[in-house]
Amino acid sequence: MCWRWASVCAAAWLSAFVAVPAALAQGNTIVLKNGRRIRALSVTQDGDKVRYETSAGTLTLPSAIVDHVEGGGLPTIAGAAESGKVSFWPPEPAANDPALAAGKSEIEARLIHNGEVDRGYVATLENEARSGQDSANWNAALAHHIAAQFESAHGETELALADEQQATRFAPRQPIFLMNTAYLHLRRSEYTQALDYLEKARRAAPNDPDVAKLSGWAYYGLNKLDQAVTEWQRAMALRPEAETEAALKKALRDKEEEAQYKENESRHFALRYSGAAEPALARDVLRTLEHHFDAIESELSYAPPDPIGVILYTQQAFADITQAPAWVGALNDGRIRVPVQGLNSMTPELSRVLRHELTHSFVQQKARGRAPTWIQEGLAQWMEGKRSDGSAAALIRTATSAPGKAAAHFEGDWMKMPNDAVDAAYAWALANVEYILHAGGMTDMQHIMERLAAGEAPEAATKAVTRDDYAALTTDTVDYLRKTYGNWFREGQANACR
Ligand SMILES: [Zn+2]
Repeated sequence: MCWRWASVCAAAWLSAFVAVPAALAQGNTIVLKNGRRIRALSVTQDGDKVRYETSAGTLTLPSAIVDHVEGGGLPTIAGAAESGKVSFWPPEPAANDPALAAGKSEIEARLIHNGEVDRGYVATLENEARSGQDSANWNAALAHHIAAQFESAHGETELALADEQQATRFAPRQPIFLMNTAYLHLRRSEYTQALDYLEKARRAAPNDPDVAKLSGWAYYGLNKLDQAVTEWQRAMALRPEAETEAALKKALRDKEEEAQYKENESRHFALRYSGAAEPALARDVLRTLEHHFDAIESELSYAPPDPIGVILYTQQAFADITQAPAWVGALNDGRIRVPVQGLNSMTPELSRVLRHELTHSFVQQKARGRAPTWIQEGLAQWMEGKRSDGSAAALIRTATSAPGKAAAHFEGDWMKMPNDAVDAAYAWALANVEYILHAGGMTDMQHIMERLAAGEAPEAATKAVTRDDYAALTTDTVDYLRKTYGNWFREGQANACR
């Protein structure tokens, strides 16, 4: 059983964003206790706040003043405290800032129609900005900012980032534009770029709590816990908030835990381990990771830009985790965490786990956090060397007797599945990926991830590359399993290969 990295957790969390376009179709109305009604594109409950998307961006209200929401449920974003990981926040003041209010509604009315950004109008404003007048520059910046908010609310992170960067070119000192650009970089795990914008935002607005909040996130992502703690403490001093507090607590816990840890670095990794770990094991781990890094890099034609953090846990037995039948999750905060108690040197099993986990780091970054769980887990298992020989017979049986079960892993939250369903989900994910690789090779997987990174939905991205929607992918996968493994299990060799 593979060590379940919490890509599942990431997937569950990301679905809060991915779900936005579906919610847009219908729209919601938030009804306040005082009777006021607010139209929103989508609404989510987030701790003691209600967060809602409008064409102008994300806004929040205290839950206490909300009576109910019409036109759809109220999904909950997993809070930092309960999931044990830090979550993102969009900078908030955008819509309330009086500086932004000037001219905004007029530009917005002309910019967004028929559910699209009018790019011709953006070009007109850009042309006018060439006159060099302040007001013309401001209008062009505002148009790009509004477009960015709109694209972001529709899951088009790439477009949103390009627009927000343009906004900062036309209005280089407007903190909101700088912070939104940083936020969009953070959503793509581009921590260093995010910090560049945050430094500029800080020069323009030294006491803005959102600058500190987002900087904390960037430092946390870069594994710089001291700076993360400093920023979040500062954010708390400027504006206390539950989510900042939870993030700060987590960073402090991590810091305490890692305080006695020694550090080791290699080309692509920053490794930490406690004094009780064998130094020889730490060196082995780094060497093995570098070896896997090269292999995965050449398979995926991609290398993550920032060093990858790895933590060896010496108080947690390796076997406990790798054989755990229950869910072992919520460990994905961008670092690879490996329990090593009882090991003095590299074993084939540890090497496999490292390769599996490292694949997740690659996929996470290559697909810009948008890979569905089945691709994450399917590819990670394939990279660690697993194949479907042992599970083919059962999968073929399921596909015939309960076809619905053959598709359950494509959607939904693996975290909420019972254990046997999770096992089946892993097996299906591996079989799907194995089939795609068999039919189209690794370039197909690369192209799917590139489409995901550009914001395409998982099924559409899969179909664009393989011509299979999920139903066809299931049929083709089962055909592949029959052809490839049919003889094996008929001859009763399946167990021998497990
Ligand atoms: Zn995994």
